[in-house]
Amino acid sequence: MPPLPNIRVGHGYDLHRLEPVAPAGPGRPLILAGVRLDAPRGPVAHSDGDALFHAITDAILGALALPDVGQLFPDTDPRHESQDSSVFLREAAARARAAGYRVVNLDATVILERPKIGPHKEAMRESTARALGIDPSLVNIKGKTHEGVDAVGESRAIEVHAVVLLAGD
Ligand code: MG
Repeated sequence: MPPLPNIRVGHGYDLHRLEPVAPAGPGRPLILAGVRLDAPRGPVAHSDGDALFHAITDAILGALALPDVGQLFPDTDPRHESQDSSVFLREAAARARAAGYRVVNLDATVILERPKIGPHKEAMRESTARALGIDPSLVNIKGKTHEGVDAVGESRAIEVHAVVLLAGD
């Protein structure tokens, strides 16, 4: 049999509960891919609660068959309190490079009732690409609402799905 191409796919998923942003409640400011959005509700999280960076980090770690973001950076570790989540993504990218892999492309879907992420998509693509050390053309980010249904639709949670393709040298 001919050798298979050295490519690996990874999937990442994250959900954070959303609460009124402090001081009105326990929510942190809403940050997605390092971009701060003006929103009355934000994630309850040990780190900065960047669900988009968490999902992408898990997609890369998953492609490499490594432990997930929660295992590598436990929320019981006080060093990760309020942590800028780009640190997690940069670490996942470094591990991919160390294993001889490059990102072919990545695609993510943010499911959030409000605010709309459309006006921020380009900034999110650029900050993601910067953290990964790749060209923004390799990064796609989509936004959807949950049509008012269930916890996500009622702005009580945010969900993110991400898939990444890696290719080996
Ligand atoms: Mg998370």
